[in-house]
Amino acid sequence: MTNYTIHACHLYGNLLNTYGDIGNLLVLEYYAKKAGITLTHEVISIDDTFDDSKYDFVLFGGGQDFEQTVVSQDIQLKKEPLVRYIENDGPFLAICGGYQLLGHYYIGAKGEQIKGISAIDYYTESQVNNRFIGDVEIRNEEYDEVYLGFENHNGVTYLGENVKPLGKVIKGYGNNGKDQTEGVHYKNTYGSYFHGPILARNTNLAKQVLRSILEHKYNEDFGYIIELD
Ligand code: GLN
Repeated sequence: MTNYTIHACHLYGNLLNTYGDIGNLLVLEYYAKKAGITLTHEVISIDDTFDDSKYDFVLFGGGQDFEQTVVSQDIQLKKEPLVRYIENDGPFLAICGGYQLLGHYYIGAKGEQIKGISAIDYYTESQVNNRFIGDVEIRNEEYDEVYLGFENHNGVTYLGENVKPLGKVIKGYGNNGKDQTEGVHYKNTYGSYFHGPILARNTNLAKQVLRSILEHKYNEDFGYIIELD
């Protein structure tokens, strides 16, 4: 019998974890355990090497502009393996600040340009003296599911023409408060403004992510993951 395992990278987990983003790993670990699968994780941060062949999942959390500026400089050195990981369908979840840094750039609240890695085609502008704060609800058409969360961001993100959002805004602001898009879903990469443990509040999405991690690694059908309690 195969001994299934998952090894995750918590990218800049010591700098961008402001809203308890690590909860997402704990939820995945919880469901993996129910399926008899062990999930381990490690933080990869400033000056560390990101070896894309080592990870089955990457979590990249959110935070304040200052930490994002520090991460923005370091992440340029990891750009190549990160882009390769995403292009090779590597499962990835990016929240708020992390989500912004996978795009082209983010203009911080003070007007400074914080460079991303252009892994996916979108960019983030700044609002003048305003933040989008509050409950948010979206519908994901692909999975026909509704996701609930809480958003708190200055940035307003605009997706490139052929880039799919994670969902359509039912309530709240989402990417920019205008076009009713929220987050991004590109290959096996999910990005969202939903704070912190988006997967704890949306266990359906947690199971979709876990399923994609396992199917990507083992090339077998893991449809039963969706049925886990
Ligand atoms: N600092 C960014 C912003 O305000 C990201 C915030 C966050 O991670 N929630 O838009």
